[in-house]
Amino acid sequence: MNPNTSRQKPSGLICPQCNKFIPISIRDLLTRKGIECPYCSLQLSIDRGKSQKALSALAKIHQAEKSVENASKFEG
Ligand SMILES: [Zn+2]
Repeated sequence: MNPNTSRQKPSGLICPQCNKFIPISIRDLLTRKGIECPYCSLQLSIDRGKSQKALSALAKIHQAEKSVENASKFEG
């Protein structure tokens, strides 16, 4: 019915150094203290204090993804 829900967008972020896409789950983003870029080995640290807004936004997306999962389970 809704093509948008069946299409899964990979979560991740763009490396500020090599500009490549680092695939990482939102859950990892929320639980890890830092991420290492698999392409250039840049260490990205997550400052929870400064990133709180961004992280809470991500948490909302995460919740939305979960509800989409539940919706698809409900359908199928
Ligand atoms: Zn990189």
